[in-house]
Amino acid sequence: MSIKIPFNKPYMTGKELFYISQAHHNMMLAGDGPFTKKCHHWLEEKTLTFKALLMHSCTAALEVSALVANIQPGDEIIMPSYTFVSTANAFVLRGGIPVFVDIRSDTMNIDESKIEQAITNKTKAIVPVHYAGVSCEMDTIMSIAEKHDLLVIEDAAQGIMSSYRGKALGTIGHIGALSFHETKNIICGEGGALLVNEDKFINRSEIIREKGTNRSQFFRGEIDKYTWCDIGSSYLTGELNAAFLWAQMEESTAITNNRLRVWDIYHQQLKVLEEMGYIIRPVVPEGCIHNAHMYYILLPNNKLRTALIAFLDGQGIHCVFHYIPLHSSPAGKNYTKISGSLEVTERTSEVILRLPLWVEMTEIQVYQVCDAIRTFFQGAKLKS
Ligand SMILES: *Cc1c(COP(=O)(O)O)cnc(C)c1O
Repeated sequence: MSIKIPFNKPYMTGKELFYISQAHHNMMLAGDGPFTKKCHHWLEEKTLTFKALLMHSCTAALEVSALVANIQPGDEIIMPSYTFVSTANAFVLRGGIPVFVDIRSDTMNIDESKIEQAITNKTKAIVPVHYAGVSCEMDTIMSIAEKHDLLVIEDAAQGIMSSYRGKALGTIGHIGALSFHETKNIICGEGGALLVNEDKFINRSEIIREKGTNRSQFFRGEIDKYTWCDIGSSYLTGELNAAFLWAQMEESTAITNNRLRVWDIYHQQLKVLEEMGYIIRPVVPEGCIHNAHMYYILLPNNKLRTALIAFLDGQGIHCVFHYIPLHSSPAGKNYTKISGSLEVTERTSEVILRLPLWVEMTEIQVYQVCDAIRTFFQGAKLKS
């Protein structure tokens, strides 16, 4: 069946090429040019972080976080197994050992009640991942971190424009990482940002990002020559990407509102199926404002999920699932540890289904997806 309703369609505001042509005209194409600065200011104003630094990906921002956190071989980092590989890889690259704890069955976020029992004298940091742009229980996580003197590095890859008790995701912990990958809400192809929320980490973050040099200070005129100061690499993004990203940032409110519009229709239309016990819908806890990064449903079992994917595919509707839990992946078996049972993680990965959601999705298309899901369950009921 040809795809009538794709899972995702990247949204372009229409101004991307104009800004790229300006960057071309300016002949400033390397990192930290005028568009990068605009993006930095926007991020600092929007999120109230001390320092925003554009990077070439969220993966890069997480790697810089691991360097700033001074992760040494054998250090343990607590995180969920139900996440993207980069959450773990960034720390494994430094010899760190991800220690996985289970997720909550309502938000798919790290279960904050299981963190403390995973802490050992080797634990260095906690990495909450804000799944679907819905915040983890950050008050609890921050107080555990404070009590045990741990760093909190937020994987806020999916969290731009979301908040927790009034604070932007990525600014609650000591460091945060955002993604502007094509599949996220605000995009530039490949891109990300580091949010530095502690004064004492700013200088080192800038140096690590600039190949281990103090070039950023040099460009600000704070020193008269720059030199190699520390370990580092090239984590900047080029101006062409920043120009593209700037067009998206300008439209961020409209982008978010349009996604929320789709999310809200799904949520209202699928309520009946939840009441009938066929599916479970996402939960947004009190105090969390989300960005409609994703709409997912939980099916009763893996067999029904496989059947529903095939049924929807037959109607030209493309739905996907994700996250083979990291602990059960080949690399995960080599490089990570588990704390407690990961029952919810394993179950979620078997039964979660992500529905199509993009900025320009029409209301009719959202209704079509909901109708198809209802039709599927009517058929499944008749057969059982
Ligand atoms: C997308 C994503 C990343 C990686 O982002 P990139 O910008 O592609 O490197 C990391 N963590 C999570 C949770 C993500 O969803």
